[in-house]
Amino acid sequence: MDSANEIRFTVEMTLGKLAKWLRILGFDTAYAANVTGEELIDTARNRSLLTRTKRIWDMKIAKECIFITSNHPFEQLREVILALDIEKEDIRPFSRCIQCNTSIRWVEKNAVRGKVPDYIWETQDTFYTCSHCRRIYWSGSHIQRSRDIIQRLFT
Ligand SMILES: [Zn+2]
Repeated sequence: MDSANEIRFTVEMTLGKLAKWLRILGFDTAYAANVTGEELIDTARNRSLLTRTKRIWDMKIAKECIFITSNHPFEQLREVILALDIEKEDIRPFSRCIQCNTSIRWVEKNAVRGKVPDYIWETQDTFYTCSHCRRIYWSGSHIQRSRDIIQRLFT
């Protein structure tokens, strides 16, 4: 199977949680609550389109279209993983900005002083930043929870 670098998604607006999770797994995922019509067609051209809207499905606008049936984000993710035969080796968790889809990069601890809460700065040693929206990431309990979910995804 392709690596996370090569699998790219466009996610329709009703599937926001699924889009967020695909970014957590490291997939290039185009999503914006206001992407509709022409813009959707444009972004979907070279991507796998995830939709649960029959009208969009019928348009056959993407190179590949996956129809999502579940209402639950975890099950939706399973549908995508099964449809594309994605394996655990294909994902790169926590490598991408959840907010804007840009790859994040390691940043010196000193560079984020004052930009994260003091107790975070004092207790964490490794930070990452998004060069686009400037959001700062660090390992925390939410990462552990996400890891547990990822583990369940591939068992
Ligand atoms: Zn960002």
